Amino acid sequence: MTVTTLSGLRAAKRLVVKVGSALLIEQGRAREAWLATLAAEIAALRKGGTEVIIVSSGAIALGAAKLGLAKGGRGSLADAQAAASVGQVELARLWSEVLGRHDLIAAQMLVTLDDLEDRRRYLNASATLERLIEAGAIPVVNENDSVATEEIRFGDNDRLAARVAQAAQAEGVLLLSDVDGLYDRNPEDTDAKLVETVEGVTPEIIAMATGESTSGLGSGGMLAKLQAARIAERAGIALAIINGKHDAPIASALDGGRGTLFLPQGDESARKAWLSGRLAPAGVLTVDAGCTEALARGASLLAAGMTEVEGDFRRGDLVTIFGAKGERLGQGLVEYTAEECRSILGLREDEQAAKLGYAPRAAVVHRDHMVRA
Ligand code: GLU
Repeated sequence: MTVTTLSGLRAAKRLVVKVGSALLIEQGRAREAWLATLAAEIAALRKGGTEVIIVSSGAIALGAAKLGLAKGGRGSLADAQAAASVGQVELARLWSEVLGRHDLIAAQMLVTLDDLEDRRRYLNASATLERLIEAGAIPVVNENDSVATEEIRFGDNDRLAARVAQAAQAEGVLLLSDVDGLYDRNPEDTDAKLVETVEGVTPEIIAMATGESTSGLGSGGMLAKLQAARIAERAGIALAIINGKHDAPIASALDGGRGTLFLPQGDESARKAWLSGRLAPAGVLTVDAGCTEALARGASLLAAGMTEVEGDFRRGDLVTIFGAKGERLGQGLVEYTAEECRSILGLREDEQAAKLGYAPRAAVVHRDHMVRA
């Protein structure tokens, strides 16, 4: 799928919809009527064949109001953590209720930066998202602010949404904001023009952002949105900033409305971009000729075709894959530890359980977690 216009996102198989605190909450209370219309839009997307993952802010703002904390709970890290604990309960209830009216099941997923940056945890988070969607639920993701410390925080849900989109191999991200999109200068300036399409987040584009959130409720601001756009574009994911203040924000933006669309800059799938981007291999797997051919056809690496295991790695580590003649075939995230790999080397699936002590996984390196050389 190549997205070149906002309406092109209608064809996405999987979309991440990020909702900010400023839209969800007004004077410490949830805007339930608006939320209900958004849930109806999400239900409509689902009916149209688009799987949806929600990234929802609002925990800190809701909790702060309930606890009576100053500065919307953002006065100190301890306040934000406490507010998030209280507010997250309410946030989950709200989503569960509004989605439930459309017979949709809300699934809460709280993640920290490490969950999406660390390879092992990334595999876990991505598997959980996959399973939830497959089971028919709508994941509602937020940062686990109650335990996240300053050093390990995303801090804003814009970047979190882009990372979640990578982990879930989504084709698009919709950042619902309280502005129409990116303006070429301070939007308060009467000459300011909305930038409709961005082909690559360049320093010039970054210079357009003021970095200020108009509402003061969320922590995002335009700069965080541009950082999110950068993560998305590199991963081959389209990202749009649209105005969530309308009653049916998704439809009004996607059906010929306004917004800023950041075009994908890479054509690798999300997970693969992440894979090729940031890891140093921890081990080497060598495979036989049959397996080499299978990998070239796009198959997963199975234990039966594995002939040698080098290195000391853990589940989720990056390994390099070599063929029998020493040719480099690619790299991927391994589903087993080095020791487990050695124990199932050359074995067919039905022979593996006895060695592993549990039912084997679908592959040693799944094709979704592999980039070929
Ligand atoms: N995770 C925060 C919350 O739920 C919001 C982060 C943001 O403002 O983007 O309140």
